[in-house]
Amino acid sequence: MSNVAIIGAGHAGVEAAFTLAKAGVKVTLYSNEASLPYFRPRLIAVAFGQSEPAAIAMKPSAAYEEAGITIAHEAVTTFDAAARTVNGCAYDGVIMAQGSTPFRPPFKGEGAEKVATLWTMADALAIRERAQPGTTLAIIGGGVLGLEAALRAVMAGMQVTVIEVAPVLLGGCLGTGGEATLRAALEAKGITLKVGCAVAEIATDGVVLADGTKVAAEVILCSAGARPNTQLAATAGLSVGMGVTVQPDLSIASKVYAAGDQARLPVGRPVCAVMRAMRMGALAARNLLADLQGEPCQPWVEPVLPLFMKVESVEFHTAGICWEADVVEERVDDGTNPLIWKSVLKRGDAIIGLRWVGTRAGFADWEKQLVR
Ligand SMILES: Cc1cc2nc3c(=O)[nH]c(=O)nc-3n(C[C@H](O)[C@H](O)[C@H](O)COP(=O)(O)OP(=O)(O)OC[C@H]3O[C@@H](n4cnc5c(N)ncnc54)[C@H](O)[C@@H]3O)c2cc1C
Repeated sequence: MSNVAIIGAGHAGVEAAFTLAKAGVKVTLYSNEASLPYFRPRLIAVAFGQSEPAAIAMKPSAAYEEAGITIAHEAVTTFDAAARTVNGCAYDGVIMAQGSTPFRPPFKGEGAEKVATLWTMADALAIRERAQPGTTLAIIGGGVLGLEAALRAVMAGMQVTVIEVAPVLLGGCLGTGGEATLRAALEAKGITLKVGCAVAEIATDGVVLADGTKVAAEVILCSAGARPNTQLAATAGLSVGMGVTVQPDLSIASKVYAAGDQARLPVGRPVCAVMRAMRMGALAARNLLADLQGEPCQPWVEPVLPLFMKVESVEFHTAGICWEADVVEERVDDGTNPLIWKSVLKRGDAIIGLRWVGTRAGFADWEKQLVR
């Protein structure tokens, strides 16, 4: 029986572990977190008291035992890719799936040390202690994570301001009309939006903006993206850039593969997404199995992933290509409800993208017409 180590028990690591275990491989899943592997996006609900840590576990502990997967709750500090040793133990194959670490811009100011991030269960529980009704919260970053956190903080009774340095929320993926509709929905929930506002410094009682005004905040959360974890791979002498550089079949050394947020093909933009991590974890596991049996491996095909969010009545959904400039946008709702926007993006006659805000009604029917 082959013996495989997986470094990191997130979405990619767990998917890889069960794919290997089903094929009869003995799996050791290394985790530097104390809890059972959990659905990372649900940390936001835990942070603002709308879910419990145990409720967001991916699987009960019995599922790992039944599958023959050993979870080793220890940080991997030594890895030799050529010898395939992990913390001193030798394996037939290794999959790296260490995910990413939240990016913290180098903030100036006396309060800079107090800026929180939300990426691990420990982060979520630390925020939860301070998420009291009436408390003021400033969120730096108007991406999906920052906006969902804002909505959930409002549900917890907090007074929330979102600060985004770019001129638009969500990197502009909703276009002008869709973004204006989403802004209206967020403001209707009581969220203050400061879009196109740079942070000058972090004071002890709030965030000072570049125009000199201050957003008063007892709690400050930075949600400015994440960077792949590369240190262990770099120390092991593997190729790293904006992630651990993988070959098209996700291999990084002989019988060593990488998957999830951590894995980067030589071309392509960085992506942090659950669906991508899970699919990559499964492919890395299948390719490692093929490799161990001397069979050919399959290449990774980068998916176009939908961006969406739904927190109570505030929601948006996209499909296909929503960032490109040389497309024509056509609104397809009747324009009577200021909190609803539906548009299709066309190149010629082909529909290549969808932007829906405030509803999902009709989305699935239009999605069938997408040319991918
Ligand atoms: C709050 C939040 C909300 C999100 N919302 C969404 C969303 O709505 N949709 C979406 O698609 N994506 C979302 N994401 C991103 C998504 O969670 C990640 O893309 C996904 O978790 C990546 O999976 P992964 O397996 O690559 O890494 P992770 O899930 O990050 O797992 C990596 C694991 O490896 C562990 N690890 C690292 N180094 C070591 C080591 N040396 N030894 C042992 N263990 C180690 C880490 O602690 C971690 O537990 C969200 C992320 C966060 C934090």
